[in-house]
Amino acid sequence: MADLILYSANVITMDSACPTAQLIAIQENRIVAVGRDDDIREFQKRNTKTIDCKGKTVLRGFIDAHCHLHALAESYVTLNLEPHHDVRSISDIQTKIKTSSQQLPSGAWIRARGYNEFYLAEKRHPNRWDLDQATSAYPIKLTHRTGHAHVLNSLALKTVGISNETPDPPDGLIDRDIKTGEPTGVLYRMGDFLSRKIPPLENHQLDRGMKIANDELLSMGITSVQDASSHNGIEQWKMFCRWKEKGLLKPRVVMMLGTESFSAYRKQDFETRTGKSHLRLGGVKIIIDETTGHLRPNQSELNEMVLRIHQAGFQACLHAVEENAVEAACSAIDYALKKLPKSDHRHRIEHCSVCPPSLAKKLASLGIMVVTQPAFIYYSGDRYLGTIPAEELKHLYPIKTLLKSGVKVAASSDCPIAPANPLMGIYAACSRMTETGEVVLSEEKITPEEALRMYGETTASATFDEEIKGSISPGKLADLVVLNDDPTKLPVDEIKDIKVGITIIDGEVVWEKS
Ligand SMILES: [Zn+2]
Repeated sequence: MADLILYSANVITMDSACPTAQLIAIQENRIVAVGRDDDIREFQKRNTKTIDCKGKTVLRGFIDAHCHLHALAESYVTLNLEPHHDVRSISDIQTKIKTSSQQLPSGAWIRARGYNEFYLAEKRHPNRWDLDQATSAYPIKLTHRTGHAHVLNSLALKTVGISNETPDPPDGLIDRDIKTGEPTGVLYRMGDFLSRKIPPLENHQLDRGMKIANDELLSMGITSVQDASSHNGIEQWKMFCRWKEKGLLKPRVVMMLGTESFSAYRKQDFETRTGKSHLRLGGVKIIIDETTGHLRPNQSELNEMVLRIHQAGFQACLHAVEENAVEAACSAIDYALKKLPKSDHRHRIEHCSVCPPSLAKKLASLGIMVVTQPAFIYYSGDRYLGTIPAEELKHLYPIKTLLKSGVKVAASSDCPIAPANPLMGIYAACSRMTETGEVVLSEEKITPEEALRMYGETTASATFDEEIKGSISPGKLADLVVLNDDPTKLPVDEIKDIKVGITIIDGEVVWEKS
């Protein structure tokens, strides 16, 4: 007997035992049966709720393998300076900051985000002196679209204690004027440093942002996310617990730990009252970075870090963008596996943006998963085509090559760096089309079925969740999405316009198109 039945649906189960169906029966939070409309009498009891899907397509909910929920919540309550918010020059940035400073109490921080120097007329980062022109009465923290660089005005630099004499921190870089040595205000990889110096947003502000973020995710059919923030630790965990308990965050969350928190990890700190399927810890995030001209951490430090994570039974999730970094990640995992062989480790490389076929083969042979961001091709493709050297461009986000080599590829948005919409990611993976209609590596196109798998089945296995997520099969969690069209039947161009009608988590309708 079922509590909820969806019928007259075009169900794409992603389960090879029964690839299509018309009906899904749900009891409590699990799928109990998948079948034909005729089966309805078998499962219906007096108070069974039913949803007539009227031929619409039903998929398991989308899973986003790499996003940043705190930053997403913050993004809704801070000043948005993304290019599509009419920000095309440094003077646009100045005007927006000036306007927003007018309603602020004295001493408050101005937080702005999302600027993209590629789309600014000046084609450069703004600096402290540009921001001083907007205001010198309030400290300003301006965050780059990637989240990996920040710009501070002079007052903010002073407030956080950065002067001519301040040395670069171990993992970061203080950009300086070549002649005077004076900090320009542009700081690379100093987000953690800044978060220790700048008061965080208040809970009520973050809650307001999370409420909007939650609605946004559900409206896109996202029922599970993996949070990949490198500074994640006990504070972020507590915030997730709070959001879960207050019902502000409905999608299931697997939280990665940052390396610092991993060193201090104690299992008992990470208990949850909402149940493990709603919130639990996942892998450990390591950032491999080349901003300063050489790899950080260096290869032997990286080897030891990965080995420690591997020995502790965690997944290592290595942020590696350029080929060098991907190589280094590969070598570190190889090193750990030689010390302690383990066949099903599922260590992951996040982004893996530049990867020639030989490296793809190496990843496959070591059983390393890749977490890619197809929608970057759409949102950033024009910048890639304009700025990335040809040698690298020909191996950019080579999803088909990775799949053909036998690498398991999971998809994600990296939101708020790009919008979270999985259908846009599926469209980009299948079309390789940029915002202006250019194509980035036509030979790397994949099929809608392959793309769908990257947002469900493979993403579930990227956190060892394939027993409970990733397909519409009896016994799995009842996390579903009803779409107004079938992405496997439509022309690829139209996939990005598919709309979500209903999102279901735990057998409960959590979002419905009004
Ligand atoms: Zn990220």
